[in-house]
Amino acid sequence: MSCLKRQGEAPAAHGVAGDFNTFAAMQPRAPAPTPPERRNGAPVKLADQRPTGVYLPNDNVLTPHMRSPEYVQLSTAAAMTLGIMPGRMHRCECTRCLNLLLTYPEGCRANCAYCGLARHREAERNYADRNFIRVDWPAVPVQQIVDIVARDGAASPFHRMCISMITHPRSDADTVEVLRAWTRRIDPAEIPVSILSNPTTMNREDVVRLHELGADIFTVALDAATPATFERTRGKGVQSPHKWQKYWEILEIAREVFGPQKFGAHIIIGMGETEFEALELVQRLLDLGGHSHMFCFFPEKGSLMDHLPATPRDQWRRVQLARYLMDYAGVRLEQMRFDGEGRVTGFGLPRAELDAIIDAGIAFRTSGCPGKFREDLSACDRPYGDSPPSDIASYPFQPNGRDLRRIRRQLGIPVVRID
Ligand code: SF4
Repeated sequence: MSCLKRQGEAPAAHGVAGDFNTFAAMQPRAPAPTPPERRNGAPVKLADQRPTGVYLPNDNVLTPHMRSPEYVQLSTAAAMTLGIMPGRMHRCECTRCLNLLLTYPEGCRANCAYCGLARHREAERNYADRNFIRVDWPAVPVQQIVDIVARDGAASPFHRMCISMITHPRSDADTVEVLRAWTRRIDPAEIPVSILSNPTTMNREDVVRLHELGADIFTVALDAATPATFERTRGKGVQSPHKWQKYWEILEIAREVFGPQKFGAHIIIGMGETEFEALELVQRLLDLGGHSHMFCFFPEKGSLMDHLPATPRDQWRRVQLARYLMDYAGVRLEQMRFDGEGRVTGFGLPRAELDAIIDAGIAFRTSGCPGKFREDLSACDRPYGDSPPSDIASYPFQPNGRDLRRIRRQLGIPVVRID
């Protein structure tokens, strides 16, 4: 088995209207109605088959009835690292982040257009069998995961654990239960915990409780960079319940409760925002004292955006590099230059300094909550979550010389030869 999920789509060299994905071009499909007999996880609940340990997603068998907090799903990379799934990862050893995802037969009740877990997919696939960020997510008893990590102790490869909430009436309470099950056996000072939150169902008390129970970092999966892209991909545009304002309300509460550098937001690049708009958001988060974690848009198979182009590599690299410079090299948005379409034309640093940062390669690695190596190196490498391995967007390993030459070509910043 391999971590590489073949989906066939190659990222575009250039966007559908120039060299970036424009708002006009990135229109999701409208969701089709779901037959009543497929709604709310009905096939799984009716069959009510008891789970027997680990469940590996398989469309050809009856999906067992699994629920958090007893069960969670794991990223393929985390399952391989934990030894629950056999396999290999292209050019990388393992992931340093144990990504857990709450699971229910009803699944996520939201309908985000770019997401493989979205509600409209209940028409064709049971929740635990859906692909998400290009890979399968095996379902595993929480106790089994905790037992393995507790047994490994200081030898555990994990630098961080992350609980991803979904939109479900039980999500807030069950996140607390999963966190409790973890901290009863594992010291959160040794393996810190991040919460990838779902603000739609949350209030201040939920955020405070997670902090009191030992969560270290609280992130908000804002995903869309502007109110217009948010509404179109996560709100009324796709019959989904999320509201931009509610996400910011919880983000502001997280800022108060978790404090500086301990909160942030996820942003997907290439869903119709301009480069300037994405980086304006990065600056806003920085000015609040938080961080941004970035993903490159990829047309997830089965999602309402699977007919749209992946983010062109030049657009992605410019935003990826600019975000790194802002988060870790002290460059502000006002120092950068943009053209009339909002594209980055100047990174606000002398060429020699920019070259050194490009050559260090860290700017092009997966971004996320830090691990134990260094502040600007994410524990969470999400191997090939936002691109195929043939044209990597976020590098889950240190890019080598050949990778860096390719990155420079994508950026249009060649090496300056000094003869
Ligand atoms: S809330 Fe999260 S898991 Fe649910 S559909 Fe939206 S992005 Fe996917």
